[in-house]
Order: sequence, then structure tokens, then C-alpha cells
Amino acid sequence: MPLYEFSCDGGHLTEKLLPISSETRSIACPACDGEATRRISAPAVSTADPTRMKLMDSTQATAHQPQVVSSVPSGPSQRSTPVTRNPQHQKLPRP
Ligand SMILES: [Zn+2]
Repeated sequence: MPLYEFSCDGGHLTEKLLPISSETRSIACPACDGEATRRISAPAVSTADPTRMKLMDSTQATAHQPQVVSSVPSGPSQRSTPVTRNPQHQKLPRP
């Protein structure tokens, strides 16, 4: 259901969720009981959590503007031969 914005002659603004099928042009103003007519207002495109939206935006930004790497990342080294912990392998000749 969309959120409609209404205003009365007294300048009170109110919002109300109404089904699209209802063609309500005016409601009773909750502040003064006067007639509040429907206004044309900006659509509320998203009501998502701002933190979640920031994460989504930063994720999309990395697809188009990847971060520049200035050094080799630290971490486990890439060995050509795997390390074994089996004591019997200690007797084998080293490469
Ligand atoms: Zn009013």
C-alpha cells in the first residue's frame, strides 16, 4: 500500500497508508478535523535500513572501482610443496 500525504487548510500535514484501488482525495485532518486533501509528494523509493544500503552501495562500487593494492598481502605463504606433519615423512629425502 502506498503512503499518501494529506494537508488541510490549517497547514497540518498527515500521512496515511491507503490501497491503490481507493481513490481517496481527502480525509479528516487528525489535528483539526478539517478536510485534508491529498498532495502530490515525492515517492518513497526505498525504506530499507541505511546501514544495509551503505553496504550494498559499497559492494557495487567495488565492482566498478576496485581498491588499488600497493603491496603484497600478508598471510600464509604459497609453498610449492605441501607441508606434512606425519613423523614418518621426516625420514624422506628433502628436495
Ligand atoms: Zn488540520
